[in-house]
Amino acid sequence: MAGSFSLAVYPWSYIARYNEEKIWDGRYLEKPHFTPEQEAALSPRERYSCLEKRNSFPELPLVNGTTQYGLGCFEGLKAFPQKDGSLKLFRPGENGLRFANSMAGLMMPVFPQEKFVSACLGVVEKNSKIGFAPKYQDAWEEDNFLYAKSVYLRPFTYTEPAIGPDISRHPWVVVVGTEVGAYFNPENTKAVTSDKVRAYPGGTGWIKCDANYVVSILEKSKAETAGYIEVIFLDALERTYIEEGSSSNIFFYLKNGTLVTPTLSDTILPGITRKSILTLAQDMGIQTVERKISIEEVLSEAQEVFVTGTAAGLTYLESITHNGKTVQFNQGKMGTVAKDILKTLKGIQYGALPDRHSWMVEVPKG
Ligand SMILES: *Cc1c(COP(=O)(O)O)cnc(C)c1O
Repeated sequence: MAGSFSLAVYPWSYIARYNEEKIWDGRYLEKPHFTPEQEAALSPRERYSCLEKRNSFPELPLVNGTTQYGLGCFEGLKAFPQKDGSLKLFRPGENGLRFANSMAGLMMPVFPQEKFVSACLGVVEKNSKIGFAPKYQDAWEEDNFLYAKSVYLRPFTYTEPAIGPDISRHPWVVVVGTEVGAYFNPENTKAVTSDKVRAYPGGTGWIKCDANYVVSILEKSKAETAGYIEVIFLDALERTYIEEGSSSNIFFYLKNGTLVTPTLSDTILPGITRKSILTLAQDMGIQTVERKISIEEVLSEAQEVFVTGTAAGLTYLESITHNGKTVQFNQGKMGTVAKDILKTLKGIQYGALPDRHSWMVEVPKG
């Protein structure tokens, strides 16, 4: 899964600074790039140097609160190619709102939601105009867009130069884009619980912040080495209730026919995919419940388990291993509930199904 993010940042990005006049001073930034034909003629060294320039931002200070203390937050959202040649963002306003909440949570001046949405649209528009965007392929429809490509946008904050620990008063906001393909590997979707803690009551688990990722990355890496694709975190106090995956929310379709996901709290990241899936499941007539759910209940009562997030979309888990005991769900195959929800979500995102909730926002053609 990690390999799906090989970094080739698109040439156009957006950068804004909260300046001394307390105004967000933003502009688009263009990095070197070549047409595919020109690129084919480059030597490996020239190609590497071009990529390196695209991935580096010398206008930003290296020694600062983000690189020294992890004081930063970020977002992840996608633009989806449509059959008519346009591109559409999925619920960018929701990401803009969460970004503002994250910045407020880190005691930073907040980047306004409308600026966030317009910067995201601008980055996709400028890149697609110079050919940096995947083109819609009819073949994607054959497997319900499971292997379809999209543009991944990564907005993030970056603090002013600093060597002492302090809050940020004049941060930058940067938006970069890159192409992503399928994140999903149906060959192995085994998960394991972690005995470490991702988030604790009173902490920053609800903020999409850099600092939360250290434990997740370490635990996920250990799980992958042991042959799993995902790690599941339990609550910090009782180590009994399921919280979420390493960077994804989690759902359980129980034998009693209800779809359960843990209630949001300050230890759970409020996923936009999570929120959307609750809506879609309700549309499909499935009873949804947000509540605490213990690992023991899941191991005995779940028929289907899946994790959700922008990067993963919806990934079913074939089994969960907890304290050395493994329980398999739906004979290790993706269940019908997960399949139906995934098909609906992807169908809306790639324009094959009607967008009843007006979630999709079209990128201007420029
Ligand atoms: C981003 C993230 C998610 C998923 O959120 P989406 O908005 O659905 O992409 C879930 N958990 C964590 C810890 C995250 O950082």
